[in-house]
Amino acid sequence: MAQVYNWQLGREMAYPYPAAFPQRQFAFVFNINRCIACQSCTMACKSTWTFSKGQEHMWWANVETKPYGGYPQFWDLKILELLERHNPGGQRWSAPSGTGALAPYGRYDGQTIFEAGQKALTPDSARVLGYLPTDEEWNSPNIYEDNPVGRPGVRGQFDPDGAELPEHQTWFFYLARICNHCSYPACLAACPRKAIYKRPEDGIVLIDQAECRGYRKCVEACPYKKSMYRGNTRVSEKCVACYPRVEGSDPESEGMPMETRCMAACIGQIRMQGLVRLNPDGSWAEDRYHPLYYLVHVAKVALPLYPQLGTEPNGYYIPPRWVPRPYLRQMFGPGVDQAIERYSHPDRELLAVLQLFRRSNRIIFGYRIEEGPKVYEAELRGRKLEIYNDTVIALGREGQELFRTTIEEPVHVRAPIHANSI
Ligand code: SF4
Ligand code: SF4
Repeated sequence: MAQVYNWQLGREMAYPYPAAFPQRQFAFVFNINRCIACQSCTMACKSTWTFSKGQEHMWWANVETKPYGGYPQFWDLKILELLERHNPGGQRWSAPSGTGALAPYGRYDGQTIFEAGQKALTPDSARVLGYLPTDEEWNSPNIYEDNPVGRPGVRGQFDPDGAELPEHQTWFFYLARICNHCSYPACLAACPRKAIYKRPEDGIVLIDQAECRGYRKCVEACPYKKSMYRGNTRVSEKCVACYPRVEGSDPESEGMPMETRCMAACIGQIRMQGLVRLNPDGSWAEDRYHPLYYLVHVAKVALPLYPQLGTEPNGYYIPPRWVPRPYLRQMFGPGVDQAIERYSHPDRELLAVLQLFRRSNRIIFGYRIEEGPKVYEAELRGRKLEIYNDTVIALGREGQELFRTTIEEPVHVRAPIHANSI
């Protein structure tokens, strides 16, 4: 195994191949606080890529209700349990968060799926600790939707205490998921045919359908279970990150980099996708006014999903504010408390960047803010809150203006003549 640097873990780790990084990396931020589980993203993906015979069980994009839901069922519980079994009590982070750009969340001292696999697996072809879900586990993608955990309610009665931040007694949340187009993909590492590759131009991870022989090693190895087997073609398939849109070759894109179908369809405006520049060591190159760089590395409100697994996923999440912190720390690492604190009390810049979500389906490469007047002042949870009607301007790949929007949404009053029209 080679030694590679994983900045999300703040240390080197073992990986079957030497590190190789793309010029830009496909990445995304999902704001869980806004997701309403409308499943528009899920259906946008389904109707584009997985509507054919043999793909009935495939949902490359899915939204599951945590903590009970999962597609396939219990995917995260199962891989966490496997890791714990191979390293009992050792799956821990040591340093506090915020120790520099190369270890923003501290240092992970436990074992990744690659490291635990080295000790646990034989023969040599099984390079990554994982498991194959059963057919039943793939069967019900939206199982346990809206099922809460916590204090049981009384039928026909409101909770006498109500629900208050910082944590709710009874809770659930929606976790939207696609392939993370990982920097150290477990699917790629496990494939004995070398049929999986990471594109040098944008880091999108693809399965070469002509090379794949359907051994399902990728399905077994991907800890997020985003590689799926198709029975009638006998090869595996996965999210392709709508690459014709991202590269601007889709007829609708008019040559401009465009966000994926699941991003563009998002009703809750929780999703932003982009292409980030990387340093030679795979960490993100400083790009102060790139919205994803700002959210992940400056404001630090967006965190990777299960970074401890070791694949360096490129999907980042703004954690839900009402959920008990131990659950969130396990899911997003030690940066959770700082992220929620910052998101709950946003400054002018964060408030402006949050307005960029879903105003356009073009990929944003930068932003600029023009200051506006103060429009609101109050006290929120014991702190002074001031809101300014700033204008935020989104910039495209060539630095051209894509759109501009303000903090205050404009109010449109319908003329009396149209009062009853729909
Ligand atoms: S999420 Fe899974 S399928 Fe996607 S790149 Fe990572 S390991 Fe591969
Ligand atoms: S479209 Fe957006 S709001 Fe609706 S379920 Fe998907 S991520 Fe959530």
